[in-house]
Amino acid sequence: MAYDKITVPGSGEKISFANGAMQVPDNPILLFIEGDGIGYDIMTASKRIWDAAVEKAYGGRRQISWMEVYAGEKAAGLYAGDYMPEETFAAFREYKVGIKGPLTTPVGGGFRSLNVTLRQVLDLYSCVRPVRWYNGVPSPLKQPQDIDVVIFRENTEDTYAGIEFESGTPENAKLAKFLREEMNATNFFADAGLGIKPISPFGSKRLIRAAIQYAIDRKRSSVTLVHKGNIQKFTEGAFQKWGYELAAEEFPEATISWDEVAAKHGGEVPDGKIVVQDTIADIMFQKMLLRPREHDVIATTNLNGDYLSDALAAEVGGVGIAPGANIGDEIALFEATHGTAPKYTNLDMVNPGSLLFSGVMMLEHLDWFDAAELITSAYEKTIDQRYVTYDFARQMDNATKVPTSEFATRIIENMNGA
Ligand code: NAD
Repeated sequence: MAYDKITVPGSGEKISFANGAMQVPDNPILLFIEGDGIGYDIMTASKRIWDAAVEKAYGGRRQISWMEVYAGEKAAGLYAGDYMPEETFAAFREYKVGIKGPLTTPVGGGFRSLNVTLRQVLDLYSCVRPVRWYNGVPSPLKQPQDIDVVIFRENTEDTYAGIEFESGTPENAKLAKFLREEMNATNFFADAGLGIKPISPFGSKRLIRAAIQYAIDRKRSSVTLVHKGNIQKFTEGAFQKWGYELAAEEFPEATISWDEVAAKHGGEVPDGKIVVQDTIADIMFQKMLLRPREHDVIATTNLNGDYLSDALAAEVGGVGIAPGANIGDEIALFEATHGTAPKYTNLDMVNPGSLLFSGVMMLEHLDWFDAAELITSAYEKTIDQRYVTYDFARQMDNATKVPTSEFATRIIENMNGA
């Protein structure tokens, strides 16, 4: 389609889908949203690294054609104050895969979070957060290398659906009356703010399906359903129940439930099977500190996933390095998980790690694993040489603090064996 402010690159092809399978050309057009605040610094540095890795891995046979699309402050400047222009959504529908820097959510009346809007409008129902430790990265744990999980957080339902009724409003009074008089639900104080927590079989199953499929594709060993079903039986408990049902119905060959492992296989997982197990959410936080090796892929509801992904990120290096993606049936949007850190704007200081590794996830999503692996090992080598940005430098002994751009240059040099 024709775009107004977006320039389609002269070379490159669209990613497409045939019978549900993604078709990636050797020269795909990938979208990027630069992001506000530190967005320019981390996007510029990361694109240099992604492009260098693709060049190194495939020697010119493969190449990314970047296409800039707009959201946030840069969009507002170009589109007469519109922070989330319609043609950005159109571009994602047409080109399918892209990456974004952090976006400012304008404070004040009427603005919804741009990130939430992108997820909802494009129906990106899985929030995917891999959490693993990279050699040398400062961590508060004694054995951070034991953490290697991928969290699939449901992105569209739960208390995040925004169905809330403020205390003191006529809508709140009407709902309270209905609950008390018609539903015999009386166990709440007068004037309580009220919120609804929708959890559906459709929403739960598509998220859990994506998590199990990921475990199969990436040869992971287990999928843990994390829930509060002991207390919230018909929402969180149902999520767990639907998860086991889905595994048995749609993946009977690939998966086995933990109950079946215990009952029929003496606690030994049969070769080649992915274990589907479940854990109460609060216990999961303990387990990820005490026995993290017992978990691999995690599938969970929206609120649990929100807490869990940030808590686990802190165990292996914090927001400066945690990558993420929001993925739907066809569209995938990879993103830095931190904010715009406005006080560091254009200072060439911050850590590009979160965006950089979101791009590594994007390369893996395209099945370009060789390029992804080059970045990971060059990154670890650079940390090992103790060249780091300010945030890591203050947590490490004998580290040399370098600007974002120089950090990128050193990664590229390590990748090229300099
Ligand atoms: P923030 O993530 O911007 O900053 C939190 C802390 O982390 C700050 O001390 C910051 O300096 C540091 N930090 C963040 N990224 C870093 C990096 N790459 N390297 C080193 N240090 C880094 O969160 P905030 O201050 O709460 O929010 C600032 C703005 O970002 C707000 O407008 C908020 O709405 C927005 N935000 C956007 C996203 C997103 O786009 N996904 C996420 C969170 C916040």
